[in-house]
Amino acid sequence: MTDFTMTTDADGVATITWDVAAKSMNVMSTAAFASLSGLVDQALAEASVKGIILTSGKKDFAGGMDLNVIAEMRAGGASAIFDGVMAMHKVLRKIELAGMDPKTKKGGKPIVAALPGTALGIGLELPLSCHRIIAADNPKAKIGLPEIMVGIFPGAGGTTRLVRKLGAMMAAPFLLEGKLSDPKAAKAAGLIDEVVAPDQLLIRAKEWVLAAKDADLVKPWDDKGYKMPGGAPYHPAGFMTFVGASAMVLGKTMGVYPAAKALLSAVYEGALVPFDVALRIEARWFTSVLLNPSSSAMIRSLFINKEALEKGANRPAVADQTVKKLGVIGAGMMGAGIAYVAANAGIEVVLIDATQESADRGKSHSADLLDKGIQRRKVTPEKKAEVLARITATTDYAALAGADLVVEAVFEDPKVKAEVTARVEAAVGAECIYASNTSTLPISMLAKASARPDRFIGIHFFSPVDKMNLVEIIRGKQTGDVAVAKALDFVRAIRKTPIVVNDARFFYANRCIIPYINEGIRMVAEGVEPALIENAAKLVGMPLGPLQLVDETSIDLGVKIAKATKAAMGDAYPDGAVDAVLFWMADQGRMGKKANAGFYAYDAAGKREGLWEGLAAQYPHTVDPDLTTVQQRLLMAQVLEAVRALEEGVLTDIREGDVGAILGWGFAPWSGGPFSWLDIIGAARAVEICERLVAAFGTRFTAPNLLREMAVKGESFYGRFGAQKAA
Ligand code: NAD
Repeated sequence: MTDFTMTTDADGVATITWDVAAKSMNVMSTAAFASLSGLVDQALAEASVKGIILTSGKKDFAGGMDLNVIAEMRAGGASAIFDGVMAMHKVLRKIELAGMDPKTKKGGKPIVAALPGTALGIGLELPLSCHRIIAADNPKAKIGLPEIMVGIFPGAGGTTRLVRKLGAMMAAPFLLEGKLSDPKAAKAAGLIDEVVAPDQLLIRAKEWVLAAKDADLVKPWDDKGYKMPGGAPYHPAGFMTFVGASAMVLGKTMGVYPAAKALLSAVYEGALVPFDVALRIEARWFTSVLLNPSSSAMIRSLFINKEALEKGANRPAVADQTVKKLGVIGAGMMGAGIAYVAANAGIEVVLIDATQESADRGKSHSADLLDKGIQRRKVTPEKKAEVLARITATTDYAALAGADLVVEAVFEDPKVKAEVTARVEAAVGAECIYASNTSTLPISMLAKASARPDRFIGIHFFSPVDKMNLVEIIRGKQTGDVAVAKALDFVRAIRKTPIVVNDARFFYANRCIIPYINEGIRMVAEGVEPALIENAAKLVGMPLGPLQLVDETSIDLGVKIAKATKAAMGDAYPDGAVDAVLFWMADQGRMGKKANAGFYAYDAAGKREGLWEGLAAQYPHTVDPDLTTVQQRLLMAQVLEAVRALEEGVLTDIREGDVGAILGWGFAPWSGGPFSWLDIIGAARAVEICERLVAAFGTRFTAPNLLREMAVKGESFYGRFGAQKAA
């Protein structure tokens, strides 16, 4: 069966239906595009056909381009990509001009896109080439061009058409931020033309086709005297937009995302020339982005591998472990957040704290978040009532009876945690899985308090729980497969992304993030200007500089972790220089953002004002390393830890290492993650950088053996470990 089929009714309206067999969502392949082109030719040539409706046989229109097409194009190099994209432009332009006379613009056949639901990427670019877009009023549908989120930009005319349709300013959120809208919002923004009741979709589409006049088919940009809404670049208003957009994009991306720059160039250069030339320019920039290693690394980590992990790529093959009743012990910041995300996903939750007051306060966190949702019109009062009704806030462990998963989020104290484990196990059935949300304590050690260590696991959430999408699942020495499957099925139900790691100090994410923070603080002690440290981090794509990050997580937590690590490591402890700064900050009472005083100064309302001037008095600025050196120190501090985690078997899958790094602590997303970054620069170059850093700054930068071996053999991480587990 082909992806597109056509039928023509007695009134001469042809309906082309997109329905990819064996897939729940339509995606575009090269062969499908060719078959669509053939059907359009046929309909345009057939005298009895008056017009065409383009729709979908599924509940949604389309999810976008099949990423294999992009991979195939890339394999052929620049000319194959450019030719492939231009071939696509030709088909879409044929739809847009619909057989009309090029001079009189008369005699074309109306083509309407009828979208039953979600329409993303090429699933919107194709409708944008039609003469009208009608969508069913389906509030769950998402309409937009999310390409930028995975490191590319709309390259099938979506960029050029949207800018000409809405103007650069109004198109910016859709192109530059990948903003998605429901049909009503898409109509309000001018992205689509009409929203109708779902059962009226095809009726209305047909009505429009039969009533359309010649003038209805002519796109504004094909009309004489077309002017870009909001002004072209050398119009006074347009000038402001383009200068502003350029500054804004650079400010947001720090110049590290090639797709954002290329998109802006395609928009600017395209706005200066006729439409068909603009399409060619768009194709050239798209080609350049596809050939940039950042785009393939981003697509691989943020799209393909993220999805694979969410679908259970590393789930043990045991029966379904859907969570029906969840216990959460500790209704503090984390427990309250976990209760909320679970109840929101339809799971019954028992939320326990030491006092009824604390348990109730934990539940009210959900009410607050739901109220915010109501304000933003994302949640209805009924939905709020439903979600809250699923949470029982209590002090009574007997309420846990029948729970199949319990997540503990009490104080980070092994004694308190051990007591809770015993109390929970006395209240639940033998099948129940017990998870700790500890951020620093080894799971295998905590499991000693359990009578059922095979059912004991770590489920490590990040703060704030409702916003952070990564969940780190930690397999203790005795953790069994059912516990891992339970944790994965739970993470899937709450629509977050899981990684599964083995038990070791700080697991994976914190293990890599702590050296990043420490390297930043170490530079302060050396006399490097703090602004250079922070800006160097941002200029290499880190969302927060190390000093801002430690302010956010709090200095006292840093002190606590430093003391515990030192106690565990004894003489081997390497971070004395860091502690000197950290402990001094704590002595000054500068505990970070929550205290309105840290490495940064804050105003009374808690707004960050700039680096704290008192820091310079204690740690005067004495050295001026070059930017690259500072960046290499900050990146290598994290990346080498990731490689060591792989070498030691804490990580068993580099996909998890990359996806976890981006989602967990925002590791330079443009790079695709630490392993992708190493593949971009190559193992040999990485070892060279390490050697230089060791000579100048110490042995913590020693290249791990694995990296050295790969450098000698000329291997890459994805070449060597690929989609297989690294075991
Ligand atoms: P919190 O202090 O905000 O909350 C802890 C809650 O546990 C409090 O409400 C407290 O009353 C309750 N509690 C303490 N002892 C109890 C007991 N015996 N029985 C029932 N309730 C009890 O702490 P938090 O930040 O939510 O952290 C909780 C856990 O999550 C810790 O293990 C922490 O390491 C971990 N964690 C924290 C973060 C973070 O960013 N805060 C991130 C990941 C993991």
